[in-house]
Amino acid sequence: MQYTAETPQGSITYELTRKSVKNLNLRIQPDGTVTVSAPHHLPQQEIDAFVCKKARWILRARQRALDTVQVAPPDFSCQIGDEVQLLGRTITIELGAGQPPASASQFGPGVLQGDHLILYPARSDTKGRMLAFRRFLDVYAQQLFDTLNDEIAPLFSPLGVPKVPVTGWWMRARWGSCHTGSQKIILNKFLVHPPLQCARYVLVHEYAHLVYPNHSAPFHALVQYMMPSAKEQKALLARYSPQYEKTIGISAKEP
Ligand SMILES: [Zn+2]
Repeated sequence: MQYTAETPQGSITYELTRKSVKNLNLRIQPDGTVTVSAPHHLPQQEIDAFVCKKARWILRARQRALDTVQVAPPDFSCQIGDEVQLLGRTITIELGAGQPPASASQFGPGVLQGDHLILYPARSDTKGRMLAFRRFLDVYAQQLFDTLNDEIAPLFSPLGVPKVPVTGWWMRARWGSCHTGSQKIILNKFLVHPPLQCARYVLVHEYAHLVYPNHSAPFHALVQYMMPSAKEQKALLARYSPQYEKTIGISAKEP
């Protein structure tokens, strides 16, 4: 059921579900919808009062959700015509039959042709298509990270920083990490979705950690020196959220 609470910040409409739960739960969905689940017998005024008390937080979180760039529609299932963001561009999924042509199997089971990604899944059901898409992203991400590594490592070599391996992971909570002990950098494979400058920024940031293993003023100055537009890229990246478990069916793990 939909209800509207009048709050000092204006009216807030929310979807209420009654459940056998102990506490009130409030969530902001990716499309900005406010959902509340409440115990069966809790009076309606108490729920409205709760929404009222949280109004400021709700409006902020809703704005953040609406500002977040969706890299794929919530019902993305890799069907013909589905759209997904790749380096900030909209790519349409097509399905090919059989094996990818040998001449074009640069990205595993996927072939990029202009604004189209032609996938060659081993099985044509949803699971098979999503698996092919994931394999494509794995190969695509690693090639992207290798290319960026070739570009960025030389910028740091005058500072005595060696070129280190850059590996992709699906991560939930971070864009990258730098392991100064084992001398390696891990980047979130989700970086294949935002514009290229975002991945470049994250790699510059992680390489700078090989000079300063902290977020001190000299660290930020170094990042800024290596990439004058670092602040813009960071702000652009903040509009993306690695919520791919729902959208592209990949489960994340932390290294
Ligand atoms: Zn950092």
